[in-house]
Amino acid sequence: MRVRAHRFRAYSSKTTARVLKTQLEAACKLYNTLLHAEQEEYERNKRTMSRNELRQLALDLRKKNPEFQALHSQVAQQVAERFYQARERFLEGLANKSKNKKPHKFLSLVYPQSGWKLSNARDVGQGKSKKRKARLYLSKIGFFTLILHREFPESQVSQVCVKLEPSGRIHVIFLVEEPETQVQASKEPVKAVGVDLGIARLATLSDGRFLDNPRPLERALDRIRVLQRALSRKKFLSKNWLKAKRKLAKEHEHVKDFRRDLFFKLGALLAQEYDVLVLEDLNVQDLIQKGENKKRRLRLYDSSFSELRAVLEWQFVKRGKLVLPVPSYNTSRECFLCGEINKGLTLKDRVFHCPRCGFALDRDLNACLVLLRRAEWVPPGVPAKLRPLPPLPSLGLVRRGRQGWL
Ligand SMILES: [Zn+2]
Repeated sequence: MRVRAHRFRAYSSKTTARVLKTQLEAACKLYNTLLHAEQEEYERNKRTMSRNELRQLALDLRKKNPEFQALHSQVAQQVAERFYQARERFLEGLANKSKNKKPHKFLSLVYPQSGWKLSNARDVGQGKSKKRKARLYLSKIGFFTLILHREFPESQVSQVCVKLEPSGRIHVIFLVEEPETQVQASKEPVKAVGVDLGIARLATLSDGRFLDNPRPLERALDRIRVLQRALSRKKFLSKNWLKAKRKLAKEHEHVKDFRRDLFFKLGALLAQEYDVLVLEDLNVQDLIQKGENKKRRLRLYDSSFSELRAVLEWQFVKRGKLVLPVPSYNTSRECFLCGEINKGLTLKDRVFHCPRCGFALDRDLNACLVLLRRAEWVPPGVPAKLRPLPPLPSLGLVRRGRQGWL
């Protein structure tokens, strides 16, 4: 079984939005209270509390404190669960020690099996503006209208998460457990594509096509920088600070949406044409931390490799196709023809030269041919010519109001 998240935009009345906010604040306080209780327990008895103890403590605190009573009991337990998970990650050395959470960063509540109800799914509008809407009731908070832009198996939902984005938007996320799709064994010849993800070029395919990185972040960066500066002049957590923060978050969200859209279109295109996707198995976190300079790091982050990878993989897995991660070591420095390593190749060199066979090829194209070879596919002896992918449908840069191009 794999867990899938289905995320929908949600709308509510102002009153409900306010209730949600109050609850988030209460949940944040509860989290911090649990944290302090845990610290005290550790100082006194040199032990950490178990998951059940934390859950029970959350319920006890809720009974005593009217502020926490605003929360649904299972939601309160989920706050304990969140704290427990964070502490476990810390104990395993995967995360920093849990700290006091700040209210403006505590932005989601989780409803497990009960406390929510989805109803009144209906089609609204006609033609292009046709939408499917539904009503979601969250116990102790109120009603939300959801835009269901795609189907999802309602009966298999295991958790509902309501999230207030920093920009003020609300999203609802349904977690669904789905059986793994079986990879179809077909007798048709299998077509494989190697994909090299990069900074200068977002993706280079082993068939020679490539997708330039539109770098929406860098283009929106000037605007973001101005907003960031405005934010830093405001008093921390003051009304104006929160306002500026929201504005900045909106800008970031536009960039994020744009990017996701692009990723999905690229993924759909590849999964239609190919049966096997060969990707570098690399640790992006490593790259970001060890990365060269700030600008490079920023761009790397901007092209958000991990999200792109996840989307590409998902598009293949969904269609019952195969994703093969191969070791990333030296892919860009190895000759795809003879396997010789060009040790002198630096990040700046855009063309790969083979010191043994004298072969020269675009660096990224060579890299994805090496990937194909590592996945035990035979790359073409003469690589295809590099050419840009035709514009993906409606990929066009979205014009937004007077602010110009994103
Ligand atoms: Zn060579």
